[in-house]
Amino acid sequence: MSAATASPPADAAARVRLLVLDVDGVMTDGRLYYGPRGEALKVFHVRDGLGLKLLAAAGITVAVVSGRRSAMTAKRCRELGVRHLLQGIEDKLAAFHRLRGRLGVSSGECACVGDDLPDVPLMREVGLSFAVADAHPQARSAARVITQLPGGGGAVREVCDYLLEARRHAAAVK
Ligand SMILES: [Mg+2]
Repeated sequence: MSAATASPPADAAARVRLLVLDVDGVMTDGRLYYGPRGEALKVFHVRDGLGLKLLAAAGITVAVVSGRRSAMTAKRCRELGVRHLLQGIEDKLAAFHRLRGRLGVSSGECACVGDDLPDVPLMREVGLSFAVADAHPQARSAARVITQLPGGGGAVREVCDYLLEARRHAAAVK
């Protein structure tokens, strides 16, 4: 995990109440597997799943926002207890504002993880933005923190651990 800016993001991390995840390239490695009937498979990382469950247990809400529509994504979110799944979203920033309005959280209390251009407006809006290690250069430039692990390869778990550690640290120094 490396900070892309000089200011330490730990304070922002401790404030996070909502984490917004992209799917392709963040929860997966970005590859789309096609079968005879169209999109067939996505591959998710089991350690990301546990991280998201730990976040939920700590009271941090998780939302998944994807530009595509996939039955695999819906299944994975059901498995993980992610209730806020928005698919087929062209304008992620607008969808984000509607969601955070419903949940009553400010942009400063939100974090997101992205890997490509559709994520950049959201990355610029939230209190703490992450890009996965293998993100597009423009997503990396927009992020406050860049993970060491790639999308689909444990990057989401790395973010979860980071947020949980920041919370523990903030609680300990109170
Ligand atoms: Mg993506």
